[in-house]
Amino acid sequence: MGKYVIAGNWKMNKTPAEATALINELKPLVANASCDVIVGVPFVDLPAALEATAGTNIGVAAQNCHWKESGAYTGEISAAMLKAMGVGTVILGHSERRTYFGDTNETVAQRVRGALDAGLNVILCVGEYLEQREQGVTGEVVAMQTKIALGGVSEEELKRVIIAYEPVWAIGTGKTATAEQANEVCALIRATVAGLYNDAAAKALTIQYGGSMNAGNAADLLAQPDVDGGLIGGAALKANDFSIIVAAAK
Ligand code: PEP
Repeated sequence: MGKYVIAGNWKMNKTPAEATALINELKPLVANASCDVIVGVPFVDLPAALEATAGTNIGVAAQNCHWKESGAYTGEISAAMLKAMGVGTVILGHSERRTYFGDTNETVAQRVRGALDAGLNVILCVGEYLEQREQGVTGEVVAMQTKIALGGVSEEELKRVIIAYEPVWAIGTGKTATAEQANEVCALIRATVAGLYNDAAAKALTIQYGGSMNAGNAADLLAQPDVDGGLIGGAALKANDFSIIVAAAK
């Protein structure tokens, strides 16, 4: 993984045929990107996305995985299964999974462990709810999420982890964190990682901002010294908008 990474999180959108069409539209627009580009697609779109991105500079991510390799877990998909089909990355701990599907810091840590053991790269999402920001505990919340998820992750394995700072109040709401707010928390995450490992590991870590990043505000957010990329929801569903964000990540 390079330092700057722009990843799309398509959430529960696009059929396989629509995924192929969107990726085909995107390919020429991001062919000369100076950052890494990833599309995070629904499980059923993974074969189509892998086929459409073959031989291109676009990587493919899943949006979740189970921590066990196999077993009696109806409806779940393991990291080993993703790896076997050629998926490179998995998004873990997204706030929608924490809010609607019961993911906790502990199960996110288990998923991170399972994904790294299977050889996947991880985009680990952390971020505070609006009430937590208003109570002044953003730093504590994000540091705790980071520390628990990285418990047991070695410095070598950390090279396969990206952390995405996603304030929950900014996801899908159109309310973006200001560039200063985004940078402040990304810097805090970096300091937390420096405390867990060392300065060099923290400096090498890619920290993304996510939360209503779009073609209009990306350049400002991505210009911040501690923001090394973006995790993009809504704007990732429009090839042109997504490519403008990719172009802004220099
Ligand atoms: C996301 O889903 O991770 C996200 C940041 O969504 P949006 O860009 O739509 O706020």
